[in-house]
Amino acid sequence: MSVVSFGELLIDFVALEHGVSVGEASGFKKAPGGAPANVAVAVRRLGHKAAFLGQVGDDPFGWHLTEVLQAEGIDVSGLRHSTEARTMLAFVSLTKEGERSFVFYRHPSADMLMRPEDVALEVLQGYKIFHFGSITLITEPSRSALLMTARAAASQQMLISYDPNLRLSLWPSAEAARQEMWTGFNYAHIVKISEEEVEFLTGGHDIAPLWREQTQIIAVTRGAKGATVHSRKESIDVPGFAVNTRDTTGAGDAFMAGMLVGVLENPDNYLLKLREITRFANAVGAMATMNLGAIPSLPTREAADHFLKTPR
Ligand code: ADP
Repeated sequence: MSVVSFGELLIDFVALEHGVSVGEASGFKKAPGGAPANVAVAVRRLGHKAAFLGQVGDDPFGWHLTEVLQAEGIDVSGLRHSTEARTMLAFVSLTKEGERSFVFYRHPSADMLMRPEDVALEVLQGYKIFHFGSITLITEPSRSALLMTARAAASQQMLISYDPNLRLSLWPSAEAARQEMWTGFNYAHIVKISEEEVEFLTGGHDIAPLWREQTQIIAVTRGAKGATVHSRKESIDVPGFAVNTRDTTGAGDAFMAGMLVGVLENPDNYLLKLREITRFANAVGAMATMNLGAIPSLPTREAADHFLKTPR
């Protein structure tokens, strides 16, 4: 009943004031981040076992991040500390137009240098789901390390989950992003994708081109509106929850974790429970928008259950 998450673990430096670019900000608040790490934390808070595979630098930020995951009860035996590159950093601010402005420090960062031989494959033993995102696919050798691990997970009959998150500025070109983001679909049983990402990949709103032989579930997230979940047999629109949103950072990761927990808790019939599972994922996603930052606002199981029981 558990998830192994593979990928980037980084520090987000969030600008102290709104309406400025990263260059203009007077200071930054340090926040742990990285989509696959957020998913691992959310799975743990929702009451399941989680492990994290990845690489940070042998530097104070890398050791701080390790402690953050450890404090959540995540198995970090497969988290490495590189002496060849530093922990990835991202500086983030909200501009006057409400757009996020990012500056990434990865020239290269430790996560990009993870090699196939660095992956602690033994960590996969005893876990049910293997989760990854598209950032690990951007460069070698992390791309090969990830795909080798995904193949190992598949050969152990694990369910594979993929979040093709789009961060165009990290890719050499939009074309390179489009081409490589498709790769993840060849491995995944469960895909979570936003409407914008569907449009980026397919040029439209039809998800038909996203299916591969092994795909079982495609959940298309639609922000405050909720999500549409697709199986081979049905497509279900599941409305979102109206909440006081303060910061949507990490909502997609929280939603992803909610879906995976729903699958774990219905091992024999999750394809028949997609409406309930997606409702739970929408609740976890909505709750993650109610406070600032990704990890600090990920709900516990108790809070999620309480939220769902509250009449609204
Ligand atoms: P991403 O964070 O990957 O861009 P979305 O913005 O679509 O993805 O959000 C993922 C999920 O989080 C949504 O499907 C929904 O369940 C929840 N969510 C996101 N924003 C809100 C919001 N403003 N109010 C309520 N729920 C939200």
